[in-house]
Amino acid sequence: MTLRQCPYDGSPIIADAYAGGFVVVHCDRCGGQWELHNALIRRVRTPDAETVQRARAEVERRRTGIRAVPAPAEQQAG
Ligand SMILES: [Zn+2]
Repeated sequence: MTLRQCPYDGSPIIADAYAGGFVVVHCDRCGGQWELHNALIRRVRTPDAETVQRARAEVERRRTGIRAVPAPAEQQAG
């Protein structure tokens, strides 16, 4: 299995290969880091939850083609 995109936010991830078949991949966006060895994937560093949420919302927006519409100004009572 190849990890080419961050499973959390879909960003392209950077892979560094090491001796012994180890590959360390990391995502610049959310800071997540994984270690690949043969068919095993181990998460080394947990991605930043807030960044992942934001990135996911962005991906969703791009996919659905919905543009952020500025909310109508609400009149303040009193
Ligand atoms: Zn990521």
